[in-house]
Amino acid sequence: MDPFEVRYRDALADANVRGGLLPFQRAWRDTRDAQIAALERLMGRSFDDLRAELAEVKARVFADWPHFLDTFSERAEAAGSTVVRVATPQEANEYVAGVCREAGADVVVKGKSMVSEEIRLNDHLESLGIAAVETDLGEWLLQLAGEHPSHLVMPAIHKRREQIAELLTRVLGREFPPDDITRMVRSVRTELRDRFLTASVGLSGANALIAESGTVMLVCNEGNNRMSVAIPPIHVVTAGPEKLIPTFHDAMLQIRLLARSATGQPITTYTNFVTGPRPGAEQHILLIDNGRSQMAADPDFTSALGCIRCGACANVCPPYAVVGGHAFGHVYTGAIGLVNTPFHHSLEDDAGPQSLCVSCGACATVCPVEIPLPEQILQVRHKVAEELGLSWSRRLAFQALASRRLVASAARAAAVVTGPFRRDGVSDLPVPTRHTSWRTPPAIPLVPARTRIRHRPSYPVLGDTTVSGKRVLVFLQCLTDRLLPSAAIAAVGLLEAAGAEVVVPESQHCCGLPAYDSGDWRSARRMARATIEALEGVDDVVTPASSCVVAMTHEYRRLFRDDPGWAKRAQQLAERVKDLVDYLAGPARLPNGALDTGDRTPVTVHRFCQSQNTLGLRDEMESVLRDVCGVPVRPLPENGVCCGFGGSTSISAPEVAAGILERKLACVDQTEAPIMITNNPGCVIHLRGGAHASGRSVRIVQFAEYLGGRLERVTGIHP
Ligand code: SF4
Repeated sequence: MDPFEVRYRDALADANVRGGLLPFQRAWRDTRDAQIAALERLMGRSFDDLRAELAEVKARVFADWPHFLDTFSERAEAAGSTVVRVATPQEANEYVAGVCREAGADVVVKGKSMVSEEIRLNDHLESLGIAAVETDLGEWLLQLAGEHPSHLVMPAIHKRREQIAELLTRVLGREFPPDDITRMVRSVRTELRDRFLTASVGLSGANALIAESGTVMLVCNEGNNRMSVAIPPIHVVTAGPEKLIPTFHDAMLQIRLLARSATGQPITTYTNFVTGPRPGAEQHILLIDNGRSQMAADPDFTSALGCIRCGACANVCPPYAVVGGHAFGHVYTGAIGLVNTPFHHSLEDDAGPQSLCVSCGACATVCPVEIPLPEQILQVRHKVAEELGLSWSRRLAFQALASRRLVASAARAAAVVTGPFRRDGVSDLPVPTRHTSWRTPPAIPLVPARTRIRHRPSYPVLGDTTVSGKRVLVFLQCLTDRLLPSAAIAAVGLLEAAGAEVVVPESQHCCGLPAYDSGDWRSARRMARATIEALEGVDDVVTPASSCVVAMTHEYRRLFRDDPGWAKRAQQLAERVKDLVDYLAGPARLPNGALDTGDRTPVTVHRFCQSQNTLGLRDEMESVLRDVCGVPVRPLPENGVCCGFGGSTSISAPEVAAGILERKLACVDQTEAPIMITNNPGCVIHLRGGAHASGRSVRIVQFAEYLGGRLERVTGIHP
């Protein structure tokens, strides 16, 4: 396999990848959501409830793995199978080769098996003169093209029909029009039929290994799997032992969630249960560890073993839509590939791909086994930083970021240098680079928010709210303080208008999220400790920066889990910190119409992805805009999908951030709204810069900033 940098460049250069994957992701989302909703109605239970049950089943298996392994082996052997456990890919490959040699097989027909990809079985068999013939349509086409799968379920999803027609025309020596898919499929079927009939070994993977009966469960849509199992006299199963599931009843739950999550079908076309070999035939079940025991022993990653390989995490992954699976993963693509690659292959193999993750959290919302993928990916990123090293420039940058004084001096200097280019919230620099040609950098004001807040007039109370008289601390956030001061000033004003007594401590600085996100947890801890100290001693801590709320409520727990003293203080902060949007929509909500200036210019709203995926916020912004401001809100297609800011990904993989940004801005175009409102400061800077660089006229405004503008007009007070 090519190094990551080559795969990344190739993927960006292939217009077919992006051209095909984005429509696929959108279509999948619609069908999957409809099917999950239908399942919820059918079962009278929520998706979250059902997936929690499946996660619990899998957790039970890993808590007593040897027992389930033994039970499965005993029952399968009692049914006539041979069960073999091996530790390494080499042992697995040699075992399969031995079976083939003994049978005198020179052709093996293969149903879809990602584990066989993992161990590079085809290469091994080919080196011994044994032809391994893929029989899954997509896999076979990729084999002809000399490629590997780019998706767990739809291996050739990165290819367009024109490419397939061209490939078949070349290989089969007759013309295939790209629009005649039926003809292409029929021809492939005819080609493969012969192989099934002549092969003496058939190989499959396993979707589940049912312990109570020693049964192999196989699901597929093409019927090739069962032909690989049922026609050749020898059936070899290659599977990871994590596919164990206690009972048929549990397997039914997996089936219900698997097909809907994988392809948006209520059930796959074929579901086969194979218990032992046919009379006169052989069945070998090869259970391959290859790092799985290590995963089971690491409490941070055990749950990832529960993966049922549905591919849903790739189907909602914005970077995946830009670069596809080949750049994104080693063998297992999408979010799960970033998590399990270090165990099945090496941390070095994951060093490049993990940098693609934008931490939007979408994968965790659709995973049918409730795997905390975003946390695990950040854990992998931390390992990469610790064991393989972070670049000196990043280490230096985070050390500098930790110093409030240094940041203040640097911001002042940058404000002076970029002053002549400052206009409409951006710094329109004359020399675009790889990092700025698609996103104009933000304007850097000379005076930060914290200084302006000290010298501004207060606002009158506009209504009776439940925060009346409460001491509320505003955490400005480093970006907002230096780059979006009007949002920070507006946040303070809005809370005053809701009757709160607002405090803005001078000692506050950066919460540490940029360092945490990049894997530099030492710097992150230092900044987190300073932040916790600065924010103690008040009832509520409110911030316009949703990403910092996520850091304080979710990430600090992990940063301090080995430090009980700080863990306790972090927990106390987590209980008090609130997102400004949530606060203004809830306890600090102003009366309906309080910010109605009569301006009815329509707006559209982008919800910061983590607000939705991690904090569980929904239409709070829309509701305040409609009811408190009286402004029409136009629905934004793909509202909760990440805008591509993605912290460190913007720096390490700017083309990915740019691709996701363009997807978002194209959705904004569809609304024809002249203003887009969003909450997280990072998104504002990113989207504003992207809109400017692409020549769009839409104004990107931070939520508090927008409300603050109306507050000024309503009260006549201009800070
Ligand atoms: S991690 Fe979850 S969403 Fe991703 S493939 Fe596995 S089961 Fe599906």
